[in-house]
Amino acid sequence: MKICPQCDARYDSPEWVCPSCGATPPLADGYPALAIEFANAGDGFNPEYFAQLAGLEKGNFWFQSRNRLILMLLRRHAPALTSFMEIGCGTGFVLSNIASEYPAAALMGAEIFSTGLAHAARRVPSAKFIQMDARNIPFEAQFDALGAFDVIEHIEEDEAVLAQINKALKPGGIMLLTVPQHPALWSKQDEKACHVRRYTAAELESKVTAAGFEILDSGSFVSLLLPLMWLSRSMANRDSNTEHDAMAELRIGKLMNMTLKAVMSVEMMLTRIGVRFPAGGSRFLVARKVPISKVE
Ligand SMILES: [Zn+2]
Repeated sequence: MKICPQCDARYDSPEWVCPSCGATPPLADGYPALAIEFANAGDGFNPEYFAQLAGLEKGNFWFQSRNRLILMLLRRHAPALTSFMEIGCGTGFVLSNIASEYPAAALMGAEIFSTGLAHAARRVPSAKFIQMDARNIPFEAQFDALGAFDVIEHIEEDEAVLAQINKALKPGGIMLLTVPQHPALWSKQDEKACHVRRYTAAELESKVTAAGFEILDSGSFVSLLLPLMWLSRSMANRDSNTEHDAMAELRIGKLMNMTLKAVMSVEMMLTRIGVRFPAGGSRFLVARKVPISKVE
């Protein structure tokens, strides 16, 4: 069900026209804008990165490996999903992979910056897109599964976002998250990327549980590359004179990218057979919306 941003009425319709009050959201870059006051603001993520990102992510070891992980977890925990929403869909790189795996599913991409939506819509013509604020998701009991991949670390009110995701899921629905891990790895790269925090496993898991979920899986990834990552970050922190660029880590040579991809392949293989690493640059988490009767 959609939730009317004007009068809070719940309604089922493919269109964004509230049957109670007649309100229809304005458009931003041609997409329904549920939080238009943020559509073009740079609060949390620089929209200019979308254009750069779209070019970089396709061959990049990190985005490819994360995509493999996401599909692996969806196949395992939501094999029959018929509806999926991605919060912070960016350029649609993840959503396009999900579209090829689940061609019959109703897909929705949401992004706070409407500039990202045009990229995404070109990549995933079958999906619907909206501009919205993750702290105020205009859906209730709508989706089988919902993903936010490297999103909630950008948002001060992450607990509110998790509660909104819970509300937007059908009972028993599946949430998939990836976040940067280990506060000790905090560096200028995090500042440039407008992160608010890096998570510990305990912090993420307790916030997810408090939002009405039961955790099905939670593990580290980018584990085998952790020593390399730590080295690169501590060098970047020490060297304060150079200009740091959130994209710099992604602009790597072909040979290096192939090597890193091979290492990540081994890690993904181990993760698939159930190995969970004690540490890693990122954390993934899969959780299920607990039926209301089970929540205290
Ligand atoms: Zn209304």
